[in-house]
Amino acid sequence: MKDMVCIVCPVGCRISVDEENDYSVIGNKCPKGATYGKKELTFPTRTITSTVKIKNAIHNRLPIKTSTEIPKNMIFDIMRELNKLEVSSPIKVGDVVLKNILNTGADIIATRDM
Ligand code: SF4
Repeated sequence: MKDMVCIVCPVGCRISVDEENDYSVIGNKCPKGATYGKKELTFPTRTITSTVKIKNAIHNRLPIKTSTEIPKNMIFDIMRELNKLEVSSPIKVGDVVLKNILNTGADIIATRDM
Protein backbone atom coordinates (compact mmCIF):
# COMPACT_ATOMS: atom_id res chain seq x y z
CA MET A 1 0.00 0.00 0.00
CA LYS A 2 1.22 3.47 -0.85
CA ASP A 3 -0.24 6.40 1.11
CA MET A 4 -0.53 9.84 -0.50
CA VAL A 5 -2.67 12.96 -0.63
CA CYS A 6 -4.92 13.45 -3.66
CA ILE A 7 -4.04 16.82 -5.23
CA VAL A 8 -6.87 16.93 -7.78
CA CYS A 9 -9.01 19.32 -5.68
CA PRO A 10 -8.62 21.39 -2.48
CA VAL A 11 -10.27 18.72 -0.28
CA GLY A 12 -6.94 16.84 -0.26
CA CYS A 13 -8.17 13.34 0.61
CA ARG A 14 -5.61 11.00 2.17
CA ILE A 15 -5.68 7.97 -0.10
CA SER A 16 -3.99 4.57 -0.11
CA VAL A 17 -3.14 2.77 -3.35
CA ASP A 18 -2.68 -1.01 -3.40
CA GLU A 19 -0.04 -1.80 -6.03
CA GLU A 20 -0.64 -5.54 -5.60
CA ASN A 21 -4.38 -5.30 -6.24
CA ASP A 22 -4.57 -3.53 -9.62
CA TYR A 23 -3.84 -0.16 -7.98
CA SER A 24 -7.16 -0.12 -6.14
CA VAL A 25 -7.63 3.04 -4.10
CA ILE A 26 -9.29 3.63 -0.72
CA GLY A 27 -9.89 6.90 1.14
CA ASN A 28 -10.97 8.88 -1.95
CA LYS A 29 -14.21 10.84 -1.64
CA CYS A 30 -14.81 10.77 -5.42
CA PRO A 31 -13.76 8.74 -8.50
CA LYS A 32 -11.14 11.30 -9.50
CA GLY A 33 -9.07 10.22 -6.50
CA ALA A 34 -9.00 6.61 -7.74
CA THR A 35 -7.84 7.75 -11.18
CA TYR A 36 -5.22 10.05 -9.65
CA GLY A 37 -3.87 7.38 -7.27
CA LYS A 38 -3.42 4.79 -10.00
CA LYS A 39 -1.86 7.28 -12.42
CA GLU A 40 0.48 8.66 -9.75
CA LEU A 41 2.02 5.22 -9.29
CA THR A 42 2.05 4.16 -12.95
CA PHE A 43 2.59 7.30 -15.06
CA PRO A 44 2.69 10.50 -12.95
CA THR A 45 2.23 13.74 -14.87
CA ARG A 46 2.02 17.45 -14.02
CA THR A 47 1.07 20.75 -15.64
CA ILE A 48 3.97 23.22 -15.37
CA THR A 49 3.26 26.86 -14.57
CA SER A 50 6.24 29.19 -14.62
CA THR A 51 7.63 32.32 -16.31
CA VAL A 52 10.02 33.00 -19.20
CA LYS A 53 12.10 36.04 -20.16
CA ILE A 54 10.38 38.65 -22.35
CA LYS A 55 11.90 41.60 -24.24
CA ASN A 56 10.35 45.04 -24.81
CA ALA A 57 7.55 44.51 -22.29
CA ILE A 58 6.36 46.23 -19.09
CA HIS A 59 7.74 43.33 -17.03
CA ASN A 60 10.79 41.17 -17.69
CA ARG A 61 9.05 37.79 -17.10
CA LEU A 62 6.01 36.39 -18.92
CA PRO A 63 3.79 33.87 -17.09
CA ILE A 64 3.34 30.61 -19.01
CA LYS A 65 2.00 27.08 -18.60
CA THR A 66 2.15 23.81 -20.48
CA SER A 67 -0.85 23.13 -22.75
CA THR A 68 -1.13 19.57 -21.41
CA GLU A 69 0.37 17.57 -18.57
CA ILE A 70 3.94 16.38 -19.05
CA PRO A 71 5.67 13.35 -17.50
CA LYS A 72 6.70 14.23 -13.95
CA ASN A 73 10.23 12.91 -14.53
CA MET A 74 10.77 15.56 -17.24
CA ILE A 75 10.01 18.59 -15.05
CA PHE A 76 13.67 19.56 -14.50
CA ASP A 77 14.59 19.12 -18.19
CA ILE A 78 11.65 21.30 -19.20
CA MET A 79 12.53 23.96 -16.61
CA ARG A 80 16.05 24.09 -18.06
CA GLU A 81 14.58 24.68 -21.55
CA LEU A 82 12.28 27.39 -20.19
CA ASN A 83 15.28 29.12 -18.60
CA LYS A 84 16.86 29.43 -22.07
CA LEU A 85 13.72 30.77 -23.72
CA GLU A 86 13.27 34.50 -24.41
CA VAL A 87 10.21 35.91 -26.19
CA SER A 88 9.36 39.40 -27.47
CA SER A 89 6.38 41.60 -26.74
CA PRO A 90 3.61 41.86 -27.87
CA ILE A 91 2.22 38.54 -26.64
CA LYS A 92 -1.48 37.70 -26.23
CA VAL A 93 -2.89 35.33 -23.62
CA GLY A 94 -3.13 31.89 -25.22
CA ASP A 95 -0.27 32.48 -27.69
CA VAL A 96 1.99 29.47 -28.19
CA VAL A 97 5.50 30.70 -27.35
CA LEU A 98 7.17 27.29 -27.89
CA LYS A 99 5.69 24.26 -29.66
CA ASN A 100 6.12 20.65 -28.53
CA ILE A 101 8.70 21.23 -25.82
CA LEU A 102 11.25 18.36 -25.75
CA ASN A 103 8.90 16.29 -27.94
CA THR A 104 6.40 15.89 -25.09
CA GLY A 105 3.47 17.02 -27.25
CA ALA A 106 2.95 19.94 -24.87
CA ASP A 107 3.16 23.53 -26.10
CA ILE A 108 4.20 26.46 -23.91
CA ILE A 109 1.31 28.92 -23.68
CA ALA A 110 1.27 32.55 -22.48
CA THR A 111 -1.16 33.04 -19.60
CA ARG A 112 -1.47 36.83 -19.92
CA ASP A 113 -1.16 39.67 -22.44
CA MET A 114 2.09 41.57 -22.31
S1 SF4 B 1 -10.57 12.17 -4.04
FE1 SF4 B 1 -11.98 13.59 -5.04
S2 SF4 B 1 -12.70 14.88 -3.33
FE2 SF4 B 1 -10.84 13.88 -2.61
S3 SF4 B 1 -9.16 15.34 -3.06
FE3 SF4 B 1 -9.33 13.89 -4.81
S4 SF4 B 1 -10.66 14.93 -6.27
FE4 SF4 B 1 -10.94 15.94 -4.30
